[in-house]
Formats: sequence, C-alpha cells, structure tokens
Amino acid sequence: MRMLILGRQGAGKGTQAGRLAELAAVPHISTGDMLRAAVREGTPLGQRAKQIMDAGDLVPDEVMVGIVDDRLHEPDAARGWILDGFPRTVGQAEALAEITAATPLDVVLELVVPNDVVIERISIRRTCDGCGTVYSADDAAIADGTCPKCGGTPRQRDDDRPEAVARRLAVYESDTAPLVDHYAGLGLLEAIDGLGTTDEVFDRVLAVIDDRTSRRI
Ligand code: ADP
Repeated sequence: MRMLILGRQGAGKGTQAGRLAELAAVPHISTGDMLRAAVREGTPLGQRAKQIMDAGDLVPDEVMVGIVDDRLHEPDAARGWILDGFPRTVGQAEALAEITAATPLDVVLELVVPNDVVIERISIRRTCDGCGTVYSADDAAIADGTCPKCGGTPRQRDDDRPEAVARRLAVYESDTAPLVDHYAGLGLLEAIDGLGTTDEVFDRVLAVIDDRTSRRI
C-alpha cells in the first residue's frame, strides 16, 4: 500500500495514518515529525527549519523533496508507506510522481474537517517534547503533566499558538488545497468525513480502502 493523507492542520492525519500504518505494517512517514525530530536533535536541517515552522511557513520544496526521496528509499519502505504532511505543494506532488514513477500511488485520502473545528482541536492539542505523542489537554493520562509513554512533557507546539495556526491554515488553502483537485483529476482521491471520534473516522478510512481494493480485483 502506497498512500498519502491530505487535510487541514488538526484534521487527524497523524492519528489515522499511524493506525493504518500499524495495521498494514508499513511505515508512517510524517514530514512534520521528521522535522521536529531534527529540531530536537539540533541538526543543521533542524536549525534551518525551526524558524520557518514556528512562523507557520513551509520549508522549501527542494529541502523536503530530498528528505522524502531518501526516506522512501530506505529498506522498510519497499513494501509500501503512508505519507503524512507531504506533498504540500503542487511542486512537491510533481517531484513525488517522479520519485515513485516505478511504484505509483494507490490512493490519496483527504480528511475533511471544517476550519472552526480544527482551530478548536489545535487549541487543546499537546505534543510530548520527548517522543512526539499527541494528546488532548484534557486527557486524564497526562493529568500529572508527564507523558506515560516516555516520561517527557506534553506541551503546546510553538506552531500551535493562534498566530501561527492562522498562518498555517492560510498556507494550506493557498498551497496545499490545490492538491485535492490535482489528485481527483488523477482518479486517486477519496474524501472522508473527519468529524467524530477517531474510531469512527478510522472505520470510514477502512471502508474506503476496502471498497477501492475490491473494485480493483
Ligand atoms: P501540520 O499539518 O499540523 O501543519 P506538520 O507536523 O505536518 O503539521 O508540519 C509542521 C510544519 O513542518 C509545517 O507547518 C511546515 O513548516 C513544516 N513541514 C512539514 N511538512 C512539510 C512539507 N511537505 N513541505 C514544507 N514544509 C513542511
């Protein structure tokens, strides 16, 4: 399975991609997670990306394409992958088509959630500074201020502050939303209602994938 997930910030891409990747036993490749790991480790990429991310802007295409090209050629990606956060521009989509020319995409999922709902979700999102696990601020599991998985501290991401969120949503509309039409034109797009519980959304995701698989047979 080779697929990507589109959707606004806070639409649930990371959660759904993570669950699906586990079920399909393929890597969940999140460019945002990769960049945040680089920031934590203080690598040259991380130092370059931090300011851009905090402002809610996009890291340049040529940087992102190089990172993803390398990652898709690692051995664990040979059986398939789920991309989350890439491509984010038409230029990145064109580069991805070249990178994957021999093994094209199977499907593109779009998680559809309106702006007012994602703004509310992001305002209560907390991300562990140790392992990157995402929680909701009212989650009892982090009531003591500690991540139960790694002992790190769940915090609000710098780019989840309201000013940066407004900027990221505007960039999504201008740069990333055109990919919906791009992939619809290629017959790859499946729009999925992203409202409801994570289980409800995951059931919809599985139904769509089952349906596409059975149509192909
Ligand atoms: P979100 O989808 O909530 O914006 P991500 O974790 O996917 O969060 O990305 C966080 C930030 O990382 C983005 O705002 C952007 O600065 C940078 N980033 C991630 N993926 C890409 C990409 N494909 N192209 C450019 N910048 C990216």
